[in-house]
Amino acid sequence: MKKRKMIILSGSSGSGKTTISHYLLSKFPDLKFSVSCTTRSIRKNEKNRKDYYFISVNSFIYKVKKNQFAEWEEVYPKLFYGTLKNEISKIFRSNKHVLFDVDVKGGLNLKKQYPNNSLSIFIMVNSIKILKERLIMRNSDLSDKQINTRLNKVEKENSYAKLFDFVLFNIDLFQTKKKAIQLVSNFIYG
Ligand code: 5GP
Repeated sequence: MKKRKMIILSGSSGSGKTTISHYLLSKFPDLKFSVSCTTRSIRKNEKNRKDYYFISVNSFIYKVKKNQFAEWEEVYPKLFYGTLKNEISKIFRSNKHVLFDVDVKGGLNLKKQYPNNSLSIFIMVNSIKILKERLIMRNSDLSDKQINTRLNKVEKENSYAKLFDFVLFNIDLFQTKKKAIQLVSNFIYG
């Protein structure tokens, strides 16, 4: 059996990590997305169990108590997100590598737990103006307040970038995708 590897994509909301993660998944058939649990509500374009397991706060707390999460965070006030241990083992059992799209703390946490077989990539956009534009364009469901909550975290999140294996500056999406492919390809097959 091949060595099981983990790709961790982190970065601020609006940095483009979800776009890049979808792109990587389309390019590497051996890579599978780790579906996280979240207590936030489902958006128009999302599917339960595909994008997230959308669960109640009570159910989330139950899973925390039962130690079912590899990591979890209150990413925004009263909104919880977590990676299920069972999701990782399910993907490994299917003989695939795993891709995480998680917040910065979650990404560092996973890297700490799996230092040898994981590649952590921080997707960086250091212009608040660009991030704001992207959040407005992309997430029609986000209120102004929610957008500001996300933007207020950016500086702090970017300060953790140096702790990742690689930082990709997402200025030109085409170039960023190309670099992401190279990094992942070297890590998985190199
Ligand atoms: P969104 O609500 O826009 O889908 O995601 C908000 C943030 O939560 C993003 O930065 C996303 O990467 C992060 N996130 C998604 N799943 C998880 C998870 O399982 N754990 C952690 N720590 N963050 C997550």
